[in-house]
Amino acid sequence: MNTSAHLFERACRVIPGGVNSPVRAFKSVGGNPVYIAEASGCRMTTVEGRELVDFVNSWGPLILGHADPDVVAAVRDAAGRGTSYGANHEGEVRIAELLTSLIPAMDMVRLVNSGTEATMTALRLARGATGRNKIVKFDGCYHGHADYLLVSAGSGLLTGGIHSSAGVSDDATRDVFVLPYNDAAAAKELFAARGGEIAAVILEPIAGNMGLVEPLPGFLKVLRDLATAAGALLIFDEVISGFRVGFSAYATFCGIVPDLVCLGKIIGGGLPIGAVGGARAVMEHLAPLGPVYQAGTLSGNPVAVAAGLAVLGKLERTDPYDTLEAGARRIRQALDAYAEEKGYDFHVAQTAGMFTPFFSSGRITNLTEGKLCDTRRYGMFFHRMLDRGWYLPPSQFELCFTSTPMGEAEIDGFIAAARDSLDETFEAV
Ligand code: PLP
Repeated sequence: MNTSAHLFERACRVIPGGVNSPVRAFKSVGGNPVYIAEASGCRMTTVEGRELVDFVNSWGPLILGHADPDVVAAVRDAAGRGTSYGANHEGEVRIAELLTSLIPAMDMVRLVNSGTEATMTALRLARGATGRNKIVKFDGCYHGHADYLLVSAGSGLLTGGIHSSAGVSDDATRDVFVLPYNDAAAAKELFAARGGEIAAVILEPIAGNMGLVEPLPGFLKVLRDLATAAGALLIFDEVISGFRVGFSAYATFCGIVPDLVCLGKIIGGGLPIGAVGGARAVMEHLAPLGPVYQAGTLSGNPVAVAAGLAVLGKLERTDPYDTLEAGARRIRQALDAYAEEKGYDFHVAQTAGMFTPFFSSGRITNLTEGKLCDTRRYGMFFHRMLDRGWYLPPSQFELCFTSTPMGEAEIDGFIAAARDSLDETFEAV
């Protein structure tokens, strides 16, 4: 039989680190990764035949869980009619009409193949539309792996960032300012000094890539006002939050209108997709209408679009957002109460159907605070949960998601398993 250990050993010989995306390697929690044979609903089955209840959901896309029958039928049907045309088709018009009708900040939208491509395109568009080069991003927000986005804060607020990956040139990151998340004063200082050079501010309006970190009241409004006054664009990276917080983008619910919104994950139902959309005046800079070049052999792929339309259609028909939120909220309330009773340095951050179990008792508002979490304890907790059949992200700085196939049994089961796992984690260290 192929075991996970055996497959990982084989993989390590032919795939760098044995994985096709680094976090899958379990480096930050230790141990060897699991290999999945199949998945259905909220459960994945490993190659050893173990069932795991999945709170990772492919890092966000699978709001309907795995192999949702409507999505599978749509994919089968679309694939049977051709997997790629390299020419136009009705599905891409329908999904663009749907997205622009559901997200008031989007007059037009361009489909791409990943979240990385969506943010790359948004930033090129912002630079092309403003004729400026500088970009502002926030520490702890992840926007994919384009060179100039693999950047950490430099020596001061007003200096460009330094690269956070080998292979990225200093030139690529020199034009990127990195600010602390939720720090409106730092943003004001930067704009006062360099506002006229800034093409765009990009952020996750609810951050998910340092664990769940919500924007503090007024933070997004300050960014909107600063960008408007300086003639810069505000870009919401909603690759995770789009259609996760409700049946639209977070931009629609938070009262702040960005110039561009990036989407991915849920709108492709687990197939590769991304999208960038926004105000007509900005979007019209894209080729072939305007001078900002962007293209893709598989962009608007009919199978990915069919999966996305099936997911969006089902979300509209079934409106599961209250239930998804209620499950995550119940987990937060139960585990916060338990941690308080036991005096554990632990709390759960939660918004809508997403949550992060943080190994720290204080609220996290930025990456510096996030880094104070006890990641060793997270690793132990992760493995105790995995042993009990609950699959969490193999890193403290990620999100857990509820999905529609989860019922009371899964939420209650998660809480019970987490209580026992917390006891073992805090007893051990
Ligand atoms: N933006 C955000 C907020 C993300 O979380 C991710 C990936 O997790 C990306 C962009 C990049 O998306 P992709 O992995 O599809 O390239």
